Amino acid sequence: MALSSFEKRFLHFFISLGTATPGKILEEIYKFVSSYFSFILSGIHLSEGQAAKTITYPEIRNLTLQERIVNQVQKENRLLVIKSKEVFNSLPFIVSERDDVLLLPLQVDDDFLGVLYFCYKNTLEFNEDFENIFRFIAKYIYLLLKNNYYYVRMEQRVAELITLQTVSDFVNSTLDFDQLLDKTLDAIVGLIGLRTSSITVFKNKLYEGVYTRKQKVLIKTIQSSQEIELNYTQDIYEFLAKERKLISGVTRVGNRILELLPSLNLQRGQEVQYVILPISRGEELFGSINIFDSTLTHLNNIDNNFLESFANQVSIALQNAQLYRQQEEMAQKDGLTSLYNHAHFQNKLDYLIKEKSMWPFSLIIMDIDDFKKVNDYYGHLTGDTVLRELSNILLKNSREGDLVARYGGEEFAVVLPETNIDEAKSFAERLNKIVANTEILIDEQTPLKVTVSMGVAEYRKEWTKEEFIDRVDQLLYKAKKAGKNRVEAAL
Ligand code: GH3
Ligand code: MG
Ligand code: MG
Repeated sequence: MALSSFEKRFLHFFISLGTATPGKILEEIYKFVSSYFSFILSGIHLSEGQAAKTITYPEIRNLTLQERIVNQVQKENRLLVIKSKEVFNSLPFIVSERDDVLLLPLQVDDDFLGVLYFCYKNTLEFNEDFENIFRFIAKYIYLLLKNNYYYVRMEQRVAELITLQTVSDFVNSTLDFDQLLDKTLDAIVGLIGLRTSSITVFKNKLYEGVYTRKQKVLIKTIQSSQEIELNYTQDIYEFLAKERKLISGVTRVGNRILELLPSLNLQRGQEVQYVILPISRGEELFGSINIFDSTLTHLNNIDNNFLESFANQVSIALQNAQLYRQQEEMAQKDGLTSLYNHAHFQNKLDYLIKEKSMWPFSLIIMDIDDFKKVNDYYGHLTGDTVLRELSNILLKNSREGDLVARYGGEEFAVVLPETNIDEAKSFAERLNKIVANTEILIDEQTPLKVTVSMGVAEYRKEWTKEEFIDRVDQLLYKAKKAGKNRVEAAL
C-alpha cells in the first residue's frame, strides 16, 4: 500500500517524537494536525483502571470524558463523532455546545489504552480519506504511548536497581551484626523517608510449626536500640514464615503494632499504613522489617517487588554477619572444652598488659596431677570427660570478668583482671579445694576425684608477657615438686 504524502510526513514526525511524555506527544500532534485541520482542542484520555486521567492541549485542568463515552469508543472500536455536551463532564469555556468531538480509540487488539479526541467547529468535511488519516494517527499514538509506558517503566526499574545496588553496598559494608541493623534502618530512612521503622530479629531457636511459645526478640528502633522482651505476635509471623511475602495494609495502631515499634512516634488508635517484610535465614524465618507510615501515602509509591528485593539484601547481609560472628567466636574457643583457647588467652594477656586500666592483674596456671594414670586406667575418652567436667567446675567458680582458658593438653589458665596477689592466691586455694572435693562422674556409677597443682603470680610492670608466664610456670613446677595438689604463689 502506497503511503499518502500526509502519512509520509506523519511518519517522519512520529519518529522525531521518540520517548516524549504523553503531554508532549499531544502538544506536538496538535500542532502537526493543526497545519491540516483547524481544531479548538485536542486531548488524550488514558484509561489506567482507577487512575484514569486526561491531558489536553491547550491545557485545561480537570476536563474529563463521560465514562459511557469512553466505554462506547472502546466497544465500537472505531472513529466516532459526538456533540461536545454529551462527551464532557463539563464544557470548558473554549468549547461550545454546538461543537463536535472526534473520538478515536487508542486500541490494538484487546489492549485499550484510552481515547484520542479533537474538538472542532462543525464545519469539517467527512470523507473516507479523512477517516483513514485519523485511524493512522491513532495507531501511531497508541504505539508512542506504549513505547513511553515501557520507557518509564524501564527508567523506574533502572532507578530501583541502582538504589538496590547502593543498599547492597551499604549493608554489606559491615559484618557487625548490631551495626548492620542500624544501617538497614538508615537505608529505610534514605529510601522511603520514613523514620518509623524497626527490625525484629528472633534470638532463640526460631520457627517450629505453630508459634505458641513466648519468644525473646531483639528490637532496634531508630530512636533507641534497647533490647526488649516481646510476646510473639503469632499471626503475623505465622503468615510470614509460611508465605515469605510482605504483609501490607492500613490499620489502626493497636498493641501489636506498638510491640513492633516501641517508640513515641505512633499514637494508639491512629491510622497507619504498614509494610512488614520477612527476613529469612535459609529456610527459616529469622525476623522482620517493620515499616509504618502515618501519612498513609508514602508507601503507595513504593513497589512491593522492590521492598522484597530490599529485604532479601538485608537477609543475606544479616546471615553473613551472623556466620561471621559465630566463626569469630569459634576461632577463640577450644573444641573439646569450649573454654577460650591458647591464642585467645595470649591476646587477653597482651591486652591487659597494654591497657593498664585493669592493673593489678594476676594469673593462675594449673596442671592436673597424675593425669596419665587417669588415661591409662580409664582410657583416653574418659580422660576427655574429666577435662570437660573440670572446665565446668572452673567456669562455675570464677567471676564474670575472669578469663578461663585451656592452656595446653591438661593445663588450664585463669586470668584475673583487677586482682592482686593476695586475692589471687586465696581464690586459687579455694579453687584447689573445690576441685579436690568435687566428684566427677565418668559414667553413671563411677565417681572420680582429681587434684590440680597451681602456680599464681601478679603481673609486674618490668616483665614481658613471656617472663610473666614463665614465672607462673616455675611456680607450678614448684607445686608439683612439693608434692602436688597445692598452690604456689609469689609476688
Ligand atoms: P603430673 O602430676 O606431673 O602433671 O603428671 P601427669 O601424668 O599429669 O603428667 P603430665 O602433665 O606431663 O601429663 C600430661 C598427660 O595428659 C599426657 C597426655 O596423655 C594427657 N593429655 C593431654 N591432653 C589430653 C587430652 O586432650 N585428652 C586426654 N584424654 N588426655 C590428654
Ligand atoms: Mg601437663
Ligand atoms: Mg599433669
